[in-house]
Amino acid sequence: MPDLSVASAVEALKKLEATSAAYDHVLGVLSLDASTAAPKGSYPGRSLTTGVMSGLHYQLISDERNGQLYEYLSAHADELDEQTRREVEVGKKNYDKMHRIPMEEYVAFRTLLSEAQAVWEKAKLENDFAAFAPYLEKIVDYNRKFAGYYNPHMAPYDALLNEYEEGMNTATLDAFFAQLRETIVPLLAKIQSAPQPDDSFLRVLCPVEGQRLLSGQIMEVMGLDRNYCGIAETEHPFTTNFNNHDVRITTHYYPEAVASSLFSVIHEGGHAIYELGCDDRYNGTFLYGGVSMGIHESQSRFFENIVGRSREFVENVIFPRVKAIFPAQFASVSPLDFYRAINRVQPSLIRTEADELTYCLHIMVRYEIEKQLIDGSLAVADVPGKWNALYREYLGVDVPDDAHGCLQDVHWAGGSIGYFPSYALGSAYGPQFLHEMEKDLGDIAPDLRAGDLTRIKGWLRENIHRHASFYKPGQLFERVCGKFDARYYTDYLTKKYTALYLE
Ligand code: ZN
Repeated sequence: MPDLSVASAVEALKKLEATSAAYDHVLGVLSLDASTAAPKGSYPGRSLTTGVMSGLHYQLISDERNGQLYEYLSAHADELDEQTRREVEVGKKNYDKMHRIPMEEYVAFRTLLSEAQAVWEKAKLENDFAAFAPYLEKIVDYNRKFAGYYNPHMAPYDALLNEYEEGMNTATLDAFFAQLRETIVPLLAKIQSAPQPDDSFLRVLCPVEGQRLLSGQIMEVMGLDRNYCGIAETEHPFTTNFNNHDVRITTHYYPEAVASSLFSVIHEGGHAIYELGCDDRYNGTFLYGGVSMGIHESQSRFFENIVGRSREFVENVIFPRVKAIFPAQFASVSPLDFYRAINRVQPSLIRTEADELTYCLHIMVRYEIEKQLIDGSLAVADVPGKWNALYREYLGVDVPDDAHGCLQDVHWAGGSIGYFPSYALGSAYGPQFLHEMEKDLGDIAPDLRAGDLTRIKGWLRENIHRHASFYKPGQLFERVCGKFDARYYTDYLTKKYTALYLE
């Protein structure tokens, strides 16, 4: 591109980024609509539109001329500001990747996912794994094939992991999970032979209308401005972001499980705080939004567990609000009873309902199965059997049916394989962030007790949120904490659950 000036090349790059962000926005709204407002039968038309829009988006970012643009800008990198330099790096990486995926395959995959979502929902409802299996087979095949496009030099599952957490691999995760098991399994055994708290009051009827009110109050405590953060109701809670002034969270209300939606809102609210805290300068660029799934989960789980399930916050912020909305249901419950019930450890079937201690065991089941599906040592037809065997081995529970087993999560239907480990990594990053935060701020217990999250959010924003995707995840983590060490997490779990059960 000899006739280009640096200024005009940068202008072309910024225009490309803004257009790409607009496609992301439109596709995101279609997908949000599918899970929230759209009537059940509307998916065929939406699948077609999604296919067309995805095709256009693919053409936009894989256009040969972009390759020349990235070459030119890379060659003039020292004339660019550091943000633009990073935009070029991210754009080029994405271009190289997309360029290796044939367009027909990309569009066919997006269309498959759009159908798979509806098929999975029905299969879960009807406990019919056989109906979903052909879709899962295709999704596994596509993922294996795409892994080769993403990074032909890596083992396929490592290449998939890198899509969600750049720099991650199975060797690191195998060691990490082994370290977690060494702490969690013996601690769990001791807890199970200790006296158990009563949590029956968490299963009394709390009408959804009151639960909606509670969501609003918790969002207010979290400082989530409803002008910029919407909330909707879906089968499976999630967060979608369009820019730092438009984030949507969702929840699911169960009339006889008030804590379920409550902690979904806090979890998704943590994702939203991250997105809303990104600097304006990254909107409409390749660097907008949180940097990786692992860092994202570290933020959502920080709010859900380290803040939301702490004794100070549960007893002084959550419980009074729950009791004010549902006075009859909690008349004879003390704040400490409530705290102990919220943190009751109980190996169970459903990941999203899992307590903080056994949560990572659920992730390990999915990790083992994904590794084997991708390396071909496990057939899709054998997933339910493998799933049930691992639940027995890791959690000591018997899976009654696939709806409560391998059909429970949306991720595989959404095409995501290699995503689950980021939940465990995110859980483990949190306590190490907390350690650094308390070095700067001192003990955060008084903030939690007062329900004043200003200093906590300020620290997270300053150190993590405002950078959006400017730093790579490993780089961002090391800037804040130095080397990752799972011991902060295992120490945190040991201290919390020893105090709850064994002292
Ligand atoms: Zn999450």
